Amino acid sequence: MHARRNRFRFTSLIPLLALSLAAPAGAEWYQQQRDLMGTRVSVELWHEAADAAARCAGLAFAEIGRIESVMSTYLGASEISFINNNAAVAPVEISAEMDYLLRESLRFSELTGGAFDITYASVGHAYDYRAGKKPDDRTIAHGLAAIDYRHVELADGTVRFRHGGVRLDLGGIAKGYAVDRAAAVLQDCGIAEAMVSAGGDSRILGDRRGRAWMIGIRHPRDPAGIALRLPLANSAISTSGDYERFFIDAGERVHHIINPATGRSATRSWSATVTGPDAMTTDALSTSIFVLGAADGIALIERLDGIDAIVIDNHGKLHYSSGFESPANGG
Ligand code: ADP
Ligand code: MG
Repeated sequence: MHARRNRFRFTSLIPLLALSLAAPAGAEWYQQQRDLMGTRVSVELWHEAADAAARCAGLAFAEIGRIESVMSTYLGASEISFINNNAAVAPVEISAEMDYLLRESLRFSELTGGAFDITYASVGHAYDYRAGKKPDDRTIAHGLAAIDYRHVELADGTVRFRHGGVRLDLGGIAKGYAVDRAAAVLQDCGIAEAMVSAGGDSRILGDRRGRAWMIGIRHPRDPAGIALRLPLANSAISTSGDYERFFIDAGERVHHIINPATGRSATRSWSATVTGPDAMTTDALSTSIFVLGAADGIALIERLDGIDAIVIDNHGKLHYSSGFESPANGG
């Protein structure tokens, strides 16, 4: 029994050694960071020629910048701003990419029973976390009727709002989508091993020269602390937390993840982490699971193939989906 286990361990080292010996002389890790989509974006990749690394990373950042210019509600000239300004009046023609993201957003709304809802912004736009500003009770009560993904009608390449007060914001899905697109650009550029991260959303191509990437999840109440580390390869991970953008108002933590049912900051979780095949999925689901809380959120995740989650509830207790239950996988 023992001898067998030892032999297995020994043989499993051989491919690793072969890999590192096979790397050409100029091959190494390359890393670059830029501020895009209101956050720090990082591209790390393994390359065999330095000029290719910088060129490929540049293309990946350009793709994220392009997506920001289409999807950001902070930019008056973006496609999403045009939709918000006009779709309550008449159907607005949209790009195929916008059509795709809006359809995916509505799909996540259906899947999560409305916990994910891009019309959250009908009330959500009245919050300003930097300025410490939140809408008063009357404004919330009035805006709440406009929060409902069923107000968004997609037909023949157009979008129309069925309610005059609807505003959309793709902040819960666009970063994940952008990270996936940047990873696809790197792949087209010939890169096989890379990690692209934008704030809490990361996509990993391949692995780290035969090893897993170790991804740390921040402790939600200790800015310097790591709650746990997860080994990941060939996948995506997103974390949503109430510590990213928030202010404290009369003892209440007012933060950027809104419960569509109340128009107020969701209170059931401190953080929610989701792993899965792509970052658009993990981004949308981490926001959703945060809103749903540990019990309902993990029950939902258990119904989805290839997706796992860790929720830190509002007492600081960790809850894992079954894919993480063994300590070997949970880090
Ligand atoms: P971040 O990585 O920016 O912290 P998260 O994935 O945690 O983002 O999602 C939070 C963002 O999602 C908010 O800034 C907002 O733009 C958007 N959002 C907030 N509440 C919801 C919701 N219930 N459904 C969909 N999007 C939301
Ligand atoms: Mg998210």
